Amino acid sequence: MTPDSLKDYRDKRDFGITPEPAGRESVTSQEPIFVIQKHAARRLHYDFRLEVDGVLKSWAIPKGPSTDPQDKRLAVPTEDHPLAYAGFEGVIPAGEYGAGTVMVWDTGVFRNLTEKKGEAIPLGQAVAQGHLKVWLKGRKLKGGYALTRFKTGKDESWLLVKADDGEADPCRTPVADEPQSVLTGRTIEEIAGEEG
Ligand code: MN
Repeated sequence: MTPDSLKDYRDKRDFGITPEPAGRESVTSQEPIFVIQKHAARRLHYDFRLEVDGVLKSWAIPKGPSTDPQDKRLAVPTEDHPLAYAGFEGVIPAGEYGAGTVMVWDTGVFRNLTEKKGEAIPLGQAVAQGHLKVWLKGRKLKGGYALTRFKTGKDESWLLVKADDGEADPCRTPVADEPQSVLTGRTIEEIAGEEG
């Protein structure tokens, strides 16, 4: 973990106002974790976060993840988040960065499957090189997913695609049909009503 990997995250937030974690404590887990947070900000999106080298590498996915290998979902990188963010559900007050309601849509652990010519590629290196493959063990999402960068620079963009494996299911539409939090069972509207 580079010392200032979370600087962007902290610079954008006033922890006296937002209920989000400052994430100064270090957290370690046996297996790396992932989380997908539904975020009703100015524009609704899903934040896909993977534990890499002590932080959560993050991408915002406007349409959310799919279980259909035919679907390519746009994923736009955002700043690294602290590991503690994986348990965050609540309301970011109006006027603050990312204002809106956050719900833990799915979470679990994962395995890094990234390889090149039969050799395993560490995840930090895979992110830097613009291609990674992981096996998710979530409550809603399972199996292989690939994230691939297709545009660099100011508008850096990636695609999230379900691998065509035994966990693929073109008939499922989890974003639409499974809208509740895996932590609390609440919908994003219920969280907004209770904590807003
Ligand atoms: Mn977000």
